[in-house]
Amino acid sequence: MYIISACLVGENCKYNGGNNSCRWVEEFAETHSHVLVCPETEGGLAAPRPPAEIVGDKVINSEGKDVTAEFSAGAAASYKRAMAAAAAAGEQVEGAILKAKSPSCGRDRIYDGTFSKTLTDGDGLFVRLMKNDNIKVITEKETIDND
Ligand code: SF4
Repeated sequence: MYIISACLVGENCKYNGGNNSCRWVEEFAETHSHVLVCPETEGGLAAPRPPAEIVGDKVINSEGKDVTAEFSAGAAASYKRAMAAAAAAGEQVEGAILKAKSPSCGRDRIYDGTFSKTLTDGDGLFVRLMKNDNIKVITEKETIDND
């Protein structure tokens, strides 16, 4: 089973109320067992919502509000639900396909907290949980090495 960012398959859970529909991810999802996650909405944040970025050990939105608790709770809840879905199906989690640059779903490179579209090294909060469990994460910018 694969874990996939819901916004990549057209769910309007992105901060601006839209999505990040990605053709190859949508086609992949049609033919592979998967569970969709959106850690930010699962943490109780609405869509639309102010964009947020990681600043040090906190997550701050563009209005200056600390949303670390919502991001952390959402990441944990999405992680728990995805693992439960795989277990219920009797499947292993084979990997995750997640949205690049996001403070939740981004891997290796994320926005730097200045709201200036500047990237820095780091992982989103959900990806940190994936990496802690040695789950392979790719973003929609890559392709999966899979038959
Ligand atoms: S938290 Fe992840 S799944 Fe949800 S909108 Fe942001 S990038 Fe997409």
